[in-house]
Amino acid sequence: MSRNLGKRLAQVERRMADVARREQLADCNCKGITFFRTAEQFEEEKNLPCPGHGFRDLGQIGITIIAPLNGAPPEDNMKLRQLIATYKAARARHQADLELEEG
Ligand SMILES: [Zn+2]
Repeated sequence: MSRNLGKRLAQVERRMADVARREQLADCNCKGITFFRTAEQFEEEKNLPCPGHGFRDLGQIGITIIAPLNGAPPEDNMKLRQLIATYKAARARHQADLELEEG
């Protein structure tokens, strides 16, 4: 194979990989910011994979707190906070893995 042909083939291969990647990313369901009220709600969202990225990025995660009408302090949603912390640790590991892959 001539050098020129090899170069062109590499170029075509790169372009095909780009197209495939863009097609995958079109289905991306990652989020920039997400609010959760219950642990169940969070688990449901967290368990959905992203068709584009595999691991779904929920972006900034906020907790919606609803104060009881009787003036009592709102319930501390410990389970939800723990789930979010676990998710964030998994996401950090996933991002570190990606950086290793990309070199
Ligand atoms: Zn995604």
